[in-house]
Amino acid sequence: MLFDPRPKDNLKDLFDRESEISLLKNSLDSPLIIIIGLRRTGKTSLIKSVLNYTKSTYIFLDMRRFENKEYIVYKDFIKSLEREINEITRKNKDLLSYLRHIQGVQVMGFSVSFSWGEEKVEISDVFSELNDWASEKGKTMHIVIDEAQELIKLRGYNILPSIAYAYDNLKNLSFIVTGSEVRVRDKFLKLEDENSPLFGRAHVEINLLPFSKETSVRFLEEGFKEQGISFPDSEKIFDILGGNPGWLTYFGYIYIKHGRDEEKAILETKRYAKRLLSREFCNFTKEGGRDKRRYLKVIETCRKGCSWKDIKNSLEALEGREINDGTVSDIINNLLEYSFLVKEDRKYMITDKLLGEIIN
Ligand code: ADP
Repeated sequence: MLFDPRPKDNLKDLFDRESEISLLKNSLDSPLIIIIGLRRTGKTSLIKSVLNYTKSTYIFLDMRRFENKEYIVYKDFIKSLEREINEITRKNKDLLSYLRHIQGVQVMGFSVSFSWGEEKVEISDVFSELNDWASEKGKTMHIVIDEAQELIKLRGYNILPSIAYAYDNLKNLSFIVTGSEVRVRDKFLKLEDENSPLFGRAHVEINLLPFSKETSVRFLEEGFKEQGISFPDSEKIFDILGGNPGWLTYFGYIYIKHGRDEEKAILETKRYAKRLLSREFCNFTKEGGRDKRRYLKVIETCRKGCSWKDIKNSLEALEGREINDGTVSDIINNLLEYSFLVKEDRKYMITDKLLGEIIN
């Protein structure tokens, strides 16, 4: 069902995205695939649907669980790895005989426990054994790190050397890394930083954009048709909510669930988006000790697109004093880096129409 609000895990429920699906399918033997797309554009749905369709074996590490944390430690990461590995050992008990060789791994019955203390498990050892197991089976094991930009907050441990080691030596492992922000490529994987373990590694990149107006309208019409409903206002809904598949799906779901009341469904969707976006925005300001009022002002100013000078003027009006150019540029760059803003033809725009909702 198109309007199911959970991530899709079956290609038959994934609307459009033909070229992204075929690029991902054809790249599954690449050591590193990066999927970048704004929150709720369907990154998880794309990955799960394709990996299930191709009957691939994968570990799905959902880093969203850390989004409210100020920082993460090794234990947090190793525990999520442990949880996901236990998911696959349930169906693949022979994997246990590989994992039991690793220092810091305890096998109890049909599950494993990873130590994070003195004799801590080395992540590259885990990758090595997963690779040997996959190689023995003649398959590729995919390690998905979803919303990987959260790992920038990992303190006291660097996971990149283990990924670089796997990239260079473990031919039966493939990493699929997703992120809602450009930071995942530049600040987490650091592929262009000469000092980074992953510097210069070739990779496949898939960019998931929001739906265009035409695709959004088709999506809504198709979703309602599936439910035997004729819905004449799809264009209007796009004009209000924009083309983020997550918001459109939620709108359709609420509309059907709550007595086909369009105004109520719009309101509910805005409320839902506001909750998610406000939380992200708060984490963003809290994390960098940033002045929330200033950043909200910039979001407000960029609602319909604006120039650098407009932003400077609005900040000066807010504070009633001159603000130096460097500070204005820093604020804009932070917002660009976290994908709250994009720059198009010398204009700055908010990336998601509903981001404007967080101001009220
Ligand atoms: P992300 O991982 O980018 O945050 P999700 O895969 O969780 O996005 O998708 C967000 C919501 O939008 C979910 O309800 C999902 O079902 C829906 N969705 C996203 N893309 C599509 C699509 N192409 N077809 C159908 N539903 C989609």
